[in-house]
Amino acid sequence: MKIHEYQAKEILRKFGVVTPRGVPSFSVDEAVKAAETLGGKVWVVKAQIHAGGRGKGGGVKVAKSMDEVRTFASQILGMQLVTHQTGPQGQKVRRLLVEEGADISKELYVGMVVDRGTQRVALMASSEGGMDIEEVAAHTPEKIHTVFIDPATGLKDAELDDVAAKIGIPAASIPQAREILKALYKAFEETDCSLAEINPLILTGDGRVVALDAKINFDDNALFRHPDLVELRDLDEEDPAEIEASKFGLSYISLDGNIGCLVNGAGLAMATMDVIKLYGAEPANFLDVGGGADAEKVTEAFKIMLRNPGLKAILVNIFGGIMKCDTIAEGVIAASRAVQLKVPLVVRMKGTNEDLGKKMLAESGLPIISADNMAEAAQKVVAAVKGVH
Ligand code: GDP
Ligand code: MN
Repeated sequence: MKIHEYQAKEILRKFGVVTPRGVPSFSVDEAVKAAETLGGKVWVVKAQIHAGGRGKGGGVKVAKSMDEVRTFASQILGMQLVTHQTGPQGQKVRRLLVEEGADISKELYVGMVVDRGTQRVALMASSEGGMDIEEVAAHTPEKIHTVFIDPATGLKDAELDDVAAKIGIPAASIPQAREILKALYKAFEETDCSLAEINPLILTGDGRVVALDAKINFDDNALFRHPDLVELRDLDEEDPAEIEASKFGLSYISLDGNIGCLVNGAGLAMATMDVIKLYGAEPANFLDVGGGADAEKVTEAFKIMLRNPGLKAILVNIFGGIMKCDTIAEGVIAASRAVQLKVPLVVRMKGTNEDLGKKMLAESGLPIISADNMAEAAQKVVAAVKGVH
């Protein structure tokens, strides 16, 4: 689960991370009031969306007067902000963060993620903050320093001082950097993050270390332990199809292609997407209906896939183990009728009650294209979207 920058900063502050003072705002008037409350001479008006790269996209503006705060707030609020993480359609800005302006002398990067290889939390730090860390990783990987944190001891002072020095924090500021990194790690552990990132972590003109931006993702599997964090969820930032799918216990991820996939089991779903790509097309979604899918669930899955105007065909790929093929056939038939299916539908099913399932599909009178194995199914569905028969 992702949260907004202002929410991430509130959490990090509780653990002792130093951030600028700021006030979330939902209207232009609120933004102006926030700037008045904060006082000072310089403010930053920041779009709050669940994507990075806002600065480059025009979603972060430094205001030097109340008039500018008003102007920038009205420009940013409601805009369709396009960044390298939003895709070309962008994301509508519904919330702002107004902060006191910071005097930046250097922009650094620090982030923590769970590293599966070492089964540890990895601290990554770089002198190259502010810009895309992906670019730094791709072109100058030697500028990223990594510490795999021992869960028994946590971050050791020696490790902290070493990494702080490597990213160019002057000796006088190292104790502050140490406290911030320790606080970040504590927040990461206690709130069950999958990612916590401060980009940029800045050095101010007077040598202070401050988190100017903050990004937190939580591990969904641990959210049951954090009802207070679940409340921070902002459904406006999530894909409506994915929200709808989660209501029915379907694991659904929207993708850019045009072949809808309905599969049982995550592994088979991944393999199905691979085989579609192998034959030259792109999946429109990942969809795992799970083990206990019934006709209703399959119907909902069809409806969710069909919300996508770019959908050109559907491939149903089912392994009947605990779930029987006839149950799926019943679901597919009911769903096709319920949604008055107009795109080609290819079905491949194997396993328990396979023959019965196939017979039901054949006798349904629906124009279902059946296939016996995955390669054939993929070839048929790819041919269907390409208009080749
Ligand atoms: P992101 O682009 O979505 O990662 O948003 P950030 O919060 O990282 O802001 C982008 C950039 O805006 C930062 O790297 C800074 O260069 C700049 N910025 C943000 N806050 C301030 C500030 O208080 N003062 C100044 N001068 N620049 C800022
Ligand atoms: Mn940033």
